[in-house]
Amino acid sequence: MRFTRLRLNGFKSFVDPTDLVISQGLTGVVGPNGCGKSNLLEALRWVMGENRPTAMRGGGMEDVIFAGAATRPARNHAEVSLVIDNAERTAPAGFNDADQLEITRRITRDVGSAYKVGSKDVRARDVQMLFADAATGAHSPALVRQGQISELINAKPKARRRILEDAAGIAGLYQRRHEAELRLKSAESNLERVDDVLDQLA
Ligand code: ATP
Repeated sequence: MRFTRLRLNGFKSFVDPTDLVISQGLTGVVGPNGCGKSNLLEALRWVMGENRPTAMRGGGMEDVIFAGAATRPARNHAEVSLVIDNAERTAPAGFNDADQLEITRRITRDVGSAYKVGSKDVRARDVQMLFADAATGAHSPALVRQGQISELINAKPKARRRILEDAAGIAGLYQRRHEAELRLKSAESNLERVDDVLDQLA
């Protein structure tokens, strides 16, 4: 899967609709300090389901919405869309029926985030799993933020293993195992309740 387009609207410093075409090969983003280069990387991470405000250099999730400037009022919502080339049909099952996938995340003040794949509403988890299964996503080691290299060097072995697992594309399996364990626990407690009821009837 190759990213081919990134669209931003009201996201951080990108107050006006901005459409970036990501061509094949190496893409460089250059510009003066504070022009928004890191915001682009954060937009990528955000549309893939990032939910930690600290990873977005903010105090709360709504901090990604354009906060206003001397000449422009703040916006009420932010939207980022990521277009992925899926001509080789390498997208995970359930999302693999089109040559192109467009994933959109929109946040509205006091409402929260909503996700779409194409025109279909999906859950945050669906988007996170889509990217985790494709060995990428908000936590992908391919997205290197400022200060991350020194964090990596100082990381404990367990944290380093996590990075290798992300790269190997098994992060989605961990999430599924966790969800299966939760379902198992709930089934066990239901069984205990059934036993109690049967005891009372006996
Ligand atoms: P550097 O080269 O110094 O790392 P950069 O090009 O990576 O800079 P960013 O850190 O991406 O720049 O952008 C910072 C700019 O984004 C600042 O001007 C900041 O005011 C602006 N900004 C961040 N969040 C918002 C927001 N919610 N609303 C408006 N502007 C924002």
